[in-house]
Amino acid sequence: MDFKELKKKLSSGGRMSDAEAVELLETEDIFSLGELANKVCEKKNKKFVHFIRNRHINPGNICVNRCKFCAFSRSAGEKGAYAYTIPQMVGMAKKVAGKVSEFHIVGGLNPDMDMDFYVDLFRALKKEVPGVSIKALTAVEIDYLSKCSGIKINKILEILKEAGLDSMPGGGAEIFRQKVRGKLCPEKIDGKRWLKIMETAHKAGIKTTATMLFGHLESFADRVDHLRRLRALQDKTGGFLAFIPLPFHPKNTKIENTHPLSGLDIIRTIAVSRLYLDNFDHIKAYWIMTGEKLAQTCLLFGADDLDGTVIEEKIAHDAGAESKEAMTVEEITRMIKKAGKVPVERDTFYRRLKVWN
Ligand code: SF4
Repeated sequence: MDFKELKKKLSSGGRMSDAEAVELLETEDIFSLGELANKVCEKKNKKFVHFIRNRHINPGNICVNRCKFCAFSRSAGEKGAYAYTIPQMVGMAKKVAGKVSEFHIVGGLNPDMDMDFYVDLFRALKKEVPGVSIKALTAVEIDYLSKCSGIKINKILEILKEAGLDSMPGGGAEIFRQKVRGKLCPEKIDGKRWLKIMETAHKAGIKTTATMLFGHLESFADRVDHLRRLRALQDKTGGFLAFIPLPFHPKNTKIENTHPLSGLDIIRTIAVSRLYLDNFDHIKAYWIMTGEKLAQTCLLFGADDLDGTVIEEKIAHDAGAESKEAMTVEEITRMIKKAGKVPVERDTFYRRLKVWN
């Protein structure tokens, strides 16, 4: 790869091609890749690295899908299955009132958690803990609510928005290409449906993030195919707030880890995402999935966001993530400063609330 030529092309508004992205996912010249990705990142975000005070709430792990890569889900009645009640979740939320600006709510596809359940949950959270934004329900969960209720997606979104939904997380994207997706999660909606639901959400004024689960059965070309479809939708709607590449954790899943991810592979994927997704403002190194130390390294390779304090995390830890479940603001800001960057506390919509000098 001729990095000088690539830099010239990108800085004059050219777009990275798929072939270039695949080549960069394999490059041994990690420093040139990092330098370029960091430059593009700082052009968009200066030296700011964002984080949010958030609280994850996973309403339940009972799921009718049972995707093969998922270590979190259980069938109803199985050992370890749980389902929180609305008062339990409101109780958790009240404990962090005044300390967080966002609730991040995702869970399994549980027939007992229907539209009314989520409408009541969001209303109760808005009433009992006002001023905290609700980021909830992936496209997969929205699709399930639609199927169970017979209500169309745009109407579902309208009802949930009215009840308090502020934005949606980008989970459930996994890998779009069906030959891989069919092996990972045959029961799950396909990539086209995921993108369609996100498009509908964006049109309804609901901003979302987007994810990609990588490091399992996919090829580099599959990763780039995923990025291409996201870039195309972002061109159309502009509704994605950030992109979050999620390294796969195989423990307790049904996917054999034939090619365990290396730290360098994660770093390259972050950097290529930064360069390829020129229409995304933010690339997140989700420290829960990468581990704290690698997330910090990613800040020099194109990432400008670390997610947040989290407080309780079940999904990645059930699959063997070795990171902690929570970080304090002091720990996050120290991590960012030690990488030579400037910590900025943000809200759900990436509005900058406070610079932590
Ligand atoms: S990834 Fe989501 S949809 Fe698939 S089994 Fe796990 S909780 Fe269910």
